[in-house]
Amino acid sequence: MDPTDSTAEYPPDSPVLADLAASWKSAYIHVPFCARRCPYCDFAIVDESAGGAADHTTYIGAVAAEIGMAADFGPLDAVNFGGGTPSRLAPELLERVIGALEVQFGLSEGAEMSLEVNPEDWSDEYGRGLVDAGFTRVSIGAQSFDPAVLDALGRLHDPDAIARTVSGVRTVGISSVGIDLIFGHPAETAASWERSIAAAMALEVDHISTYSLTVEPGTALSREIRAGAPAPDDDVQADRYHRFCDVASGHGFVRYEVSNHARDGHVCRYNLSTWAHGEYVAFGLGAHDHRWGRRERNHRRLDRYLGAIEAGERPRVGVEHLDDFHQERDRLMLGLRLAAGTPLTPTAERFAASEAGRRFIQAGILEAGDGRLRIIEPMMTDAVAREALSVSWHDC
Ligand code: SF4
Repeated sequence: MDPTDSTAEYPPDSPVLADLAASWKSAYIHVPFCARRCPYCDFAIVDESAGGAADHTTYIGAVAAEIGMAADFGPLDAVNFGGGTPSRLAPELLERVIGALEVQFGLSEGAEMSLEVNPEDWSDEYGRGLVDAGFTRVSIGAQSFDPAVLDALGRLHDPDAIARTVSGVRTVGISSVGIDLIFGHPAETAASWERSIAAAMALEVDHISTYSLTVEPGTALSREIRAGAPAPDDDVQADRYHRFCDVASGHGFVRYEVSNHARDGHVCRYNLSTWAHGEYVAFGLGAHDHRWGRRERNHRRLDRYLGAIEAGERPRVGVEHLDDFHQERDRLMLGLRLAAGTPLTPTAERFAASEAGRRFIQAGILEAGDGRLRIIEPMMTDAVAREALSVSWHDC
């Protein structure tokens, strides 16, 4: 069954859909440009406030050249432009990349084409350009509907711009629209999170991703906290997460991964496939891809990335070859994030039967049955995955 039919037929958290997704093929394109660096962000980006607007055309030319150097793969079932801020690029440049992917790999009938859009970049004219380029899905970097939280997160939009963007995406006829939210910043209160959830539900989007704020080393946020600013609180974040899940499920959203919630028919194929251990190729600054048995990653510095392409080389900085055991272990670690869980392979069974696995099962955190291993309490996913990692290593 092709991905378009299966996403329409099965609910987002279906084990059948998760297993099908493991065979889909995807591409990820990293667009590193941002208006400025947000204080919590440690991604591979180009901060355009630091040195004026970067040369988008040169970068996209390099990405297209990199795609042209790739080995056989495809046809592609899903393409995702992430960042960075993909919506800083003109639609014609995005279309050029899609054209290069189509020539190199081919696209499946009805392939999902998604990109992340920041609300301050949206205009309906821009959206029409996205439709002409072939986009079927937009994910809006909303983050919060509380102006004080948006300000603390260093975002450039206000809550009204989020609503305008959702409405604009609908107007131009893009078939799936989602928003991303961040919870647990110390500037957020229980009441303001409640208002953000209500505002998100009122927009009647198709998909919502929710992430707890994490403090990454080397960021402005981590420096502020070291200097005495309040840090995010784990218990508060757990409460905010559970409250979101309760309200979202009452509004018809199905949680299919720790952070991802979709209405029926609107699961993000790219997301689902990568968590189900599907293969994907990735292009652009700092991008890393996964094809069965190998993980490779690109330079994170723009000059090195562009220099390698100019020299006619793949801009690789590291390659990791994975034997069967490590591939199975990766599949287990990723699949534990899915609401559908992961198939009860010998590796998963070994973990379920271990001391740590039995402890999680007895505590009602983990469940083994019907041929699958699943986490019941999603906020415990990292803790379970950590134990799974160590058990697997010891048994090897
Ligand atoms: S817009 Fe996104 S990628 Fe860019 S700096 Fe902010 S958080 Fe990072």
